[in-house]
Order: sequence, then structure tokens, then C-alpha cells
Amino acid sequence: MLSTYTNTFFPICSFVISLFLFCMFYLKKNTENMETKVYQRLINGGLIESSLYVGIIITADLFYHPNLLTLYEILNKLLSCTYVIWMALMFYYIFSISSDSFEKLKSKVLNILKIVNAIFILLILIVPIDIYFDPIKYNSNSSGMAINILSFACCFYLGAMIVLIFIHRKNPGLNSKFVPCYILFILLTVSLIIRYFDPFFNVTSNVLSFVLLIMYSTIENPDVRMIEQLNIAREQADKANAAKTDFLSSMSHEIRTPLNAIVGFSQNLYEDNIPDSAKEQVEDIISASNSLLEIVNGILDISKIEANKLEIINDEYSFKKVFDELVILTRARMGEKTLDFRVVYDESIPPVFFGDKTRIKQVILNLLTNSVKYTKTGFIEFKVSSVIKDDVCRLIISVEDSGVGIKQENIDKLFTKFQRFEERNTTIEGTGLGLAITKKLVELMGGQIIVHSVYGEGSKFTIVINQRIVKNPVKNIEEMHSLAVNSEVFDLSGKKVLVVDDNKLNLKVASKLLEKYSLDIETVVSGFECLDKIKAGNKYDLVLLDDMMPKMSGVETLKELKKIEGFTTPVVILTANAISGMKEKYLNDGFNDYLAKPIDKAELNRVLKAFLK
Ligand code: ADP
Repeated sequence: MLSTYTNTFFPICSFVISLFLFCMFYLKKNTENMETKVYQRLINGGLIESSLYVGIIITADLFYHPNLLTLYEILNKLLSCTYVIWMALMFYYIFSISSDSFEKLKSKVLNILKIVNAIFILLILIVPIDIYFDPIKYNSNSSGMAINILSFACCFYLGAMIVLIFIHRKNPGLNSKFVPCYILFILLTVSLIIRYFDPFFNVTSNVLSFVLLIMYSTIENPDVRMIEQLNIAREQADKANAAKTDFLSSMSHEIRTPLNAIVGFSQNLYEDNIPDSAKEQVEDIISASNSLLEIVNGILDISKIEANKLEIINDEYSFKKVFDELVILTRARMGEKTLDFRVVYDESIPPVFFGDKTRIKQVILNLLTNSVKYTKTGFIEFKVSSVIKDDVCRLIISVEDSGVGIKQENIDKLFTKFQRFEERNTTIEGTGLGLAITKKLVELMGGQIIVHSVYGEGSKFTIVINQRIVKNPVKNIEEMHSLAVNSEVFDLSGKKVLVVDDNKLNLKVASKLLEKYSLDIETVVSGFECLDKIKAGNKYDLVLLDDMMPKMSGVETLKELKKIEGFTTPVVILTANAISGMKEKYLNDGFNDYLAKPIDKAELNRVLKAFLK
């Protein structure tokens, strides 16, 4: 008979597998989900069950003694209880993986399960159990009321599992998870059939440990350690990225401060009576510092875009005005190049849109600047047409040139940052950032950019973008349409301005620029000094306040100024912190206006006009 050889082999096998699973499970870090929690209990149950079984073999089968019958009975009853608990857990496992749709039911089902299980266990413990011992084969077997209840409980849970699986049979995600159940059904049936022929041959314990082994591969237990490592790596990358953005914005600030001095002084020099030869060089200094400023702005923009911090700020604006400004700027950029600059504007474009004027201007200007840079002879055509539907105007903006063109294989790489292809003319200045920024900005505004280019013949860049039409603008249309204030100085004698900046060079630049308006200028080097001046009763018509100052920032100084009774002087922020969105931030902080360093003369004119004229 089989059992002669197997009565110790199979239980020990089952114990070894259960122990192995137990160690594997606890040595590895696991995700804390419902599935692994139930599986953990099944493993614990499996180990207790197989240990008890081995215990029974050792005490009852190998060292049988009639006086110890009660002990054998107790051990067998406990073993039966572990089977019942294990089956209940198995049912709960199937229930919890298949019941996402009725989440709330889970706790209810768990409570009912506990009560039903307690009844089964109680019954098993109180009703009699019969132990048979076969002294020839050193084997024992149990039957009686307790075993009948155990069989009933197992059939009950198996039936419930079959119902659950039947309900969820069409859920493809669960098929692999039901496999251990199918194996459980088949192997349990086989073990019962074997037992029918040889009542002493019991492999139920092996069935359970085998099922647990199969389940181990189906439970959703991603390698937690790997996830942790990935999370750490991601955090580090995020930190490095944030550090990069911080570095770039402080670098921009640091570069802008000396640039402010270079631009300011060279502009002053240019306007002074200097010999023509010197004038030419000063012009070059201005042009070079403007290029440097463009590069700083480009790097800042791209780092903001990459950090998802670039915002599109919509407001009412006149597209015609943007168009006219772009035409003026492009003509200025063409300088001595004798290019045929063709301008085509669709007059049916509505006067006021709601959009981000600055960004629209920036993207088109980049295309126009590129055309000027990469075209030696021939033409540049700047054309805008429109399609209007309801309150949306689709702008089709194209910039075409007869320039160097772009090779077909380079077209795809065109919008990648730091990509430049003008191998024919490496003297053209640029960073390869412009088109990368342009594309991102256009997409941020919900538009598209398309390129057609034939190498050696020319290129055509087209931007298609929707802008909302404003029928009843809040802003003054005349003001919106008037072109940028010219940079002619006007007389403001009798007006008093206080300039606050911790950098002496910046103060000198500001003073030089303001001197031209015949203003009465006072300068101080900190927020504290500014407060002292005001508190001492000095009256000013305007305060120009730097933000990034040690100990007390411009924003903090403004807060203190506002606390002073009777203080109504307009305060304008004058800062090198010029990344987009900053103007809005400062206006929100309570400043009356915003001036970026290096100071743009037209902007300075606008501000002085607004507050002093
Ligand atoms: P940059 O002009 O600063 O190099 P961009 O991102 O604006 O950077 O352009 C990337 C590259 O695409 C340029 O270096 C140039 O090789 C090519 N390119 C852009 N516009 C044109 C154009 N209109 N004609 C020919 N080549 C162009």
C-alpha cells in the first residue's frame, strides 16, 4: 500500500515547502495591499497546518501509545480547524481580488466569515472524533462527527469559491489569479478519491502547500525594493532638476546685474558727444549685450518650460499692434542686408484678442529673426491670414525666406534644444534654443508649428494658433493699438525720485538714465535706509525699489513702507528677476509697476510718464 512508504514522506515534504514559502515571503519586502495580506495569512496557516501534521505523525504514528489518545484527538481536531481556517482564507482571497466593484461589502463579508468560521471551529472542537491506528503501517486516520463537519465546511467554502469564480469568469484580468483555485479543486478531488481507496493516505496538506506555491507567482507583488530605489532615483533627479532651475535663475540674476551696467553705460555713451569711430564700437557693445541678454532669457525660458513652470498669461491685446512692432523690429534686425521684406496682413483680423501677447510676439519674432539670420539675398515674407468661427479666430502666421534652407534629415531635429545646422555659415550667432522654445510655447498656447524647407532654396515656417476674440474689451482700444512709447526723454524737473539698490553700479546706471529727465534723484543702498528716509519725512514722487537685497528684500521693504501712515508714493520694482510671470507676481505683491534690468528706455519712459507726468 502506498501509505506504508509515504506516511512520513508527504507530510515532511509539505512542511518543507510551507517553511520555504514562509521564509521567501518574509525575507522579501512586500507591498501592503489586501492581496498580499491575505496571502500572508494563508502562508502562516499553511505552515501551522503542516507543522501540526508533522507533529501528529511523530507523536501518533511513530510513537503511538493508547494512553495518549486524548492528545491525538486534540491534535487532530486542531489540524481540522486549521483546514477550515485555511479554506475560509482562500475564499476571502478570491473574494477580495474579485470584488473591487463592491469595496464596502468587504468588511461585512469578513465579519460574516469570522462568525461562520467560529461556528465551524466550535463544532469541530466539541463534537467527537474517532482516531484509527494501523500498528503495522505506523499510520493513523481520523473520522467521525468532527471530520464530517470539516468536510461540510470545506465543501461550503469550495462551493462559495465556485460561485465567485463563475460570476467573474469573464474578467480577463482575473483568469490567472483563479488558476490556483482550479488546481485546488482538481487536487482536492484527486486526494479525496485516493483517500476513498486508502483511508490512511492523506495528501491534503501537500495540496495546500502546492496551491500556495502556485499562488506565489500570481500575486501582485512587485519588487518593493526596486520601486523604492526607483523612487529614490526619481527624487534625486527631481532635486537635481530643481537645483538646475534655481541655479539658472540666480545665474540669470547675476548676469543681468552687470549686463544692466553695460547696457546702461553704453547707451549713455552712445548718446554723448563721442567721435564716430567710438560710436561704432559702442553700437557693437550694445548689440553684443543685447545678444547676451537674449541668450540668458532663452536659457531661463527653456529651464522654466522643462520644470513645467512656464505659464501662459492671457490678457486683452491688439494683434495688429504686435504685428506692426514685429515688422519694425525685423526691419531693424535686417540692418544693412538688402532683403525684400514682404508684409501681408489680413485686415479682417478682429482688433482685440484674449491671449498671451508677449509669448505670441516672442515665437513670431524668433521665426523672423531666424529668417534674417539665415537669408543672405532674396526675400522674407511675413504673412498673417485668419479664419473666424464664432468667437475664435484661427491665425495662420507664416514666415518664408529664400535663405540657406534646411536639409531634409535635419527637419525632425529642428525643434530639439541646442541643435544647429548651419554648417555653411558657422559665424551666425545663436544657441539652438530658439525653435525648441518656440515649439513648446506654441503648443502651450494650443497651437501648431509646421516647417517646409528645401536645402539651398529657402524655408517656410507656419504657426497655426487660435485666439479668442474679445467683442467688448475692458481695456482702452486706442491705448492697446498705439505703438510702443518712443524713447525720447521729456522734462520732469521738480520731481523727486528715490532709487533703492544694494549694488552701487546699478544705482549709477539708474541715476545716469534718470538724469536725462532733469529729475531730482536720491539713492540709498538698502531697504532700511529707504524706510529711514521716508520715516524722516522726506517726500518723493516715485520710489524705484530693487528686490533682491540682503537682509531686507524689496518686497519686505514695500510691506514696511505700506505700514507708514500717509505713505502714498508709487513704488515701482526695479529688478533683474525678469523671468516670465515675475511682473504679475510683483504687481500682486502691491507694487505699482515693474521695470526689468537692464532697463529698457521705452519701458522707463512709459513708467515715468505714468507716474510723474
Ligand atoms: P539658433 O538660430 O539660435 O541656432 P534655433 O533653434 O532658432 O536656434 O534654430 C535651430 C537651427 O535651425 C539653426 O541653427 C539653423 O541651422 C536652423 N534654422 C532655423 N531657422 C532657419 C531658417 N529660416 N533657415 C535656415 N535654417 C534655419
